[in-house]
This record gives sequence, structure tokens and C-alpha cells, in this order.
Amino acid sequence: MDFIPEPIPILQDNYIWLLRQGQQAIIVDPGQCDAVHQYLLAHQLTLCAILITHQHSDHIGGLAQLRNYWPDAAVYVPAPSIQGVQLDGIQVQDGQYLLPDGWQTPIQVMAVPGHTLNHLAYLQTGNPPVLLCGDTLFSAGCGRLFEGTPLQMLASLQRFAALPADTLVCCAHEYTLANLKFALAVEPENQALVEYQRSAENLRGNDFPTLPSNIGLELQINPFLRCTLPELQQRWQQPDPLALFTFLRQWKNNF
Ligand SMILES: [Zn+2]
Repeated sequence: MDFIPEPIPILQDNYIWLLRQGQQAIIVDPGQCDAVHQYLLAHQLTLCAILITHQHSDHIGGLAQLRNYWPDAAVYVPAPSIQGVQLDGIQVQDGQYLLPDGWQTPIQVMAVPGHTLNHLAYLQTGNPPVLLCGDTLFSAGCGRLFEGTPLQMLASLQRFAALPADTLVCCAHEYTLANLKFALAVEPENQALVEYQRSAENLRGNDFPTLPSNIGLELQINPFLRCTLPELQQRWQQPDPLALFTFLRQWKNNF
């Protein structure tokens, strides 16, 4: 089964990702209801599941209203937040495989702490696989560390780095151009970055998403996935991947 993930733009720069199998659909992180509900109706799709990566409002703002429209859709949510907030839904955890009613291809749950401590990613198995990574990995960047440590985030990103190169990467925000400016400051001589910036500017100039990306591309252009490279550690005088990751994340916070 192959999937073509469909981004539904909402708010300032969020995407709600939609996967379909026949007339069944799964969506990820409904920060708003109307755009995705209209999209489902316009394409005559039935919503069979909602996947939630984390509890930030731009990822769950439309959840309650969407449940009213689609009471039969399964809602998969992470463990309670550190504030103790538990989202209404089926709590899932790392290593579980989900197969909602009406869906034929299992979805793997990955615990990827960092942006939040209870952040989940979902891997739609298939050919190619589709990674729904929320605010953990962005094209040419990664999420801010609101709750987790650099060590946790680095480990989460390393799990993504180990996925097959053709895995499609569906990030929850269109941050690519801003991330590329930073990535080029880290690695000005990286030719893959220079080329990707050109094509990303082209896409954005025509109002197209730069996403989905893929793991193979991110390994070439994303500095946060490249912290294991000795030459990059040397360049920024950091002794190991964790030191380089911590250094880059702090630099990016103020970039
Ligand atoms: Zn977030």
C-alpha cells in the first residue's frame, strides 16, 4: 500500500496531515475543525481515526468539535502531560501498532520526548512508510525543547534518522525556509543545502508546501540529524553528538 500524505494548511503555518485508504481517512493533530471537516466532505471521505502527537493547542484546538461531527472516529492520544492534562481518547504508547476500524495497514506508535515529554510520532507502515512527527522533526530543523532535555530530543531524532531513507516526513509546521537559513549558517559549504534552499524557495514562492520531506534528504541537510558527523563536531569545536546538538539548539533559539 502506498500513501500520498495530504497537507491541509491551517492557522499561521500549521499543517493537518491526512492519509486516505479508499474513502477512509486518518488525520493528525486537528488544530482547527472547519478546514479538515470541509476537506473530508469535499472529498467524500469518512474519518476513521484522529492521531494526536501532543497537547499544544495548535494541534488539538479542533478536536472536540471534530469528534461531534465524527463520533465513530477512534482518537489516539499520548499519556498525560506533565501538567496532568489527559486528553480524551485512547491512550497509546511506544511500540504499539494501531489498526483502527476501516483501516488496513498498521500504524506504529513511537514515543519521541523532547518538544514535550509525552510527545508521540506515528509511523504509517507502507511503501514508502510515512512518518507523522508533529513538532519533533521539521525539515532542516527540529522542535524547541519545551519540556524535554537535549539528550531526550537527540535520541528521538536518532530514531527517525534510522528509518528507511525513503520514509516520507510529515511535519506539523511549514518552517523550512527559516530553518534553511540557520542550517546554512551551520554548514555554508553544504551543496545539498544550497540546492534544497533554491527548490524550497521556488515552492513557497508559488504557495506550495515544502513537505513532505524524506529521511534521506533530511540526513543530508538537517543539522540536528547530522550531529553524529565528526567533521561537524570539529568545525564547531564540540566533543560529541550531544554537545553539538545542545550547542546548535541553543544557537537556533536565538537565531
Ligand atoms: Zn507543539
